[in-house]
Amino acid sequence: MERWLREEDASCLEQLWGAADAVRREYVGDEVHLRGLVEISSHCIRKCAYCGLRAEHRDLQRYRMTRDEILECARQARDYGYGTVVMQSGEDYGITREWLANIVRAVKQETGLAITLSLGERPDEDLVAWRTAGANRYLLRFETSDRDLYDRIHPPTSRQGLSDRIALLKRLKQLGYEAGSGVMVGIPGQTYTILARDIALFRDLDLDMIGVGPFIAHPDTPLGRGELPFASEREQVPNTEFMTYKVLALTRLACPDANIPSTTALATLNLAQGRELGLMRGANVVMPNLTPVRYRALYEIYPAKACIRESAGDCCDCLLGRIRAIGRFPGTGAGSRKHHPYI
Ligand code: SAM
Ligand code: SF4
Repeated sequence: MERWLREEDASCLEQLWGAADAVRREYVGDEVHLRGLVEISSHCIRKCAYCGLRAEHRDLQRYRMTRDEILECARQARDYGYGTVVMQSGEDYGITREWLANIVRAVKQETGLAITLSLGERPDEDLVAWRTAGANRYLLRFETSDRDLYDRIHPPTSRQGLSDRIALLKRLKQLGYEAGSGVMVGIPGQTYTILARDIALFRDLDLDMIGVGPFIAHPDTPLGRGELPFASEREQVPNTEFMTYKVLALTRLACPDANIPSTTALATLNLAQGRELGLMRGANVVMPNLTPVRYRALYEIYPAKACIRESAGDCCDCLLGRIRAIGRFPGTGAGSRKHHPYI
């Protein structure tokens, strides 16, 4: 794995892209599943060293969508033919257990869509309540398999104490969620060995969904300000588009039947072709943005994020066009991992 991550020869890499594409076709087919993304709140109690939504970024104007706004986005997801709605936010305890459980129930009842949550490291009672209310999937990237690096980039909070996203992922699976995770590519301190172990951990955790995207520096964060150490020049993984394709392709080979998105972060590095190349090198999912345009720029995880001015309709048309242009077609139904029957 590590050797492939270090490979630079274009013709060797053609073999890697070809193998990932063949395995993708064999295990998950030519369908590209569309997951409508709603960024429901930008409030966050955490201080992740990489993320623009971190609590200490005090200049950022914060928002939390209303129940009606979220329901309206879910209806749009249904009307555009998406099989899934994804509700994502910072770790925001203004989103209470009951409030969100009611919204999950309402979305399920009105739209019948699969529901994915990505709301951070919430207490067990919340995860149980939301699963009972009808949520099907939960996304929580473990960000790195290296404990020292993790503690540097993801400090504990006084509310939750020491964080263990890997244990949480196991718990999510126990609760019957489809579990999704992933890492950023090229965070300062990430070595080739660590990244190879990350991919092996995707496989060992038997993840249902895996998101990998390039780390993009945000100037108002410790990582963006260069406050945390890089590994040595030979060991540090670069945060490039090219490296991200290698990780995507190896992830597909390690986890043949997982659902793997071609991420917005990849499209941010290459607006013209990033999504397509991701889909041609292992990915089988895209996540069109449904967040109302007035909120999009405020959900500033990293600067110059792709697709922040487009409406939900623009994103839908753009992605459908890109999918068809590479000879693939939009998926129908919930698009769950095959051995995970949709409930
Ligand atoms: N708060 C939830 C959480 O942390 O799981 C969900 C939202 S969080 C913004 C979603 C993901 O964005 C994180 O897991 C992280 O991998 C990614 N992310 C954050 N900052 C980033 C950056 N500067 N560049 C690329 N991806 C970033
Ligand atoms: Fe908050 Fe998630 Fe950003 Fe961490 S990555 S600061 S938990 S939004």
